[in-house]
Amino acid sequence: MATTEVVKGRLMILKLVAIATVLMLFSACAQDTTPPSQAETETEAAFAQAREKMVEQLIENWGISDPGVIEAMEKVPRHRFVLPEYLDDAYEDTALPIEHGQTISSPSIVATMTEQLRLKPGDRVLEIGTGSGYQAAVLAELTNRVYSVEIIEPLGLKAAALLEELGYGVQTKIDDGYYGWAEYAPFDAIIVTAAPYHIPPPLLSQLKDGGRMVVPVGGPPGFYQTLWLVEKSGDQIKSTNLGPVRFVPLLGER
Ligand code: SAH
Repeated sequence: MATTEVVKGRLMILKLVAIATVLMLFSACAQDTTPPSQAETETEAAFAQAREKMVEQLIENWGISDPGVIEAMEKVPRHRFVLPEYLDDAYEDTALPIEHGQTISSPSIVATMTEQLRLKPGDRVLEIGTGSGYQAAVLAELTNRVYSVEIIEPLGLKAAALLEELGYGVQTKIDDGYYGWAEYAPFDAIIVTAAPYHIPPPLLSQLKDGGRMVVPVGGPPGFYQTLWLVEKSGDQIKSTNLGPVRFVPLLGER
């Protein structure tokens, strides 16, 4: 009898422990799925409104007209890619500092360069200079094959984590983008977001026949460069001057 009571007592303790564990787990889960507070919802709504205004200006002042690009610019939460101290300027048409002396490009340059690539769903696009990851996210709204190379490791890793958190399936690597990404070549489109002194020959050779590349070329840093649209057709390379731009320099020893 006594033994049965001890067993019963132990069972009761086990039951209590199990119930407590379930309750603890439940409350932990409940914390994870807490709906956003009213303040958070209001902030997100304000960002969405600011983004809409930004897109209106891209259409009016910059002539952005590709519906896919417009939709991409409407969707990507630029405020997630800027440093906290620049949140108020996230939807201004301006480049902003990010870590390691680099910059996130202005929305108008991102939209203009993206439009020039004329991406179709399924196209392979290579970006040189992941930076904040913003441009990569815009590309990922247009095609599911985005590859992005960054030379500064902490920047590349941070951008890769953010892109993953936001659900963008961008393939990233830390490397000198001057040499492209031979493993996934040839590309339908290449976008270079840091300025080299000349068009890197490896990028030209990794561009598909019929492919398009946008690249700012020139120096020295701090001065204007020229944005070029480079189109490859057989042995022919056609370059079109898209006007002056300002980018950080393409880094690397070579
Ligand atoms: N596309 C980025 C803009 C980043 S600024 C964005 O949307 O935020 C340019 C980026 O190019 C910087 O992060 C810089 O570190 C990177 N970069 C410079 N030289 C590079 C190189 N040789 N290879 C790859 N990335 C490079």
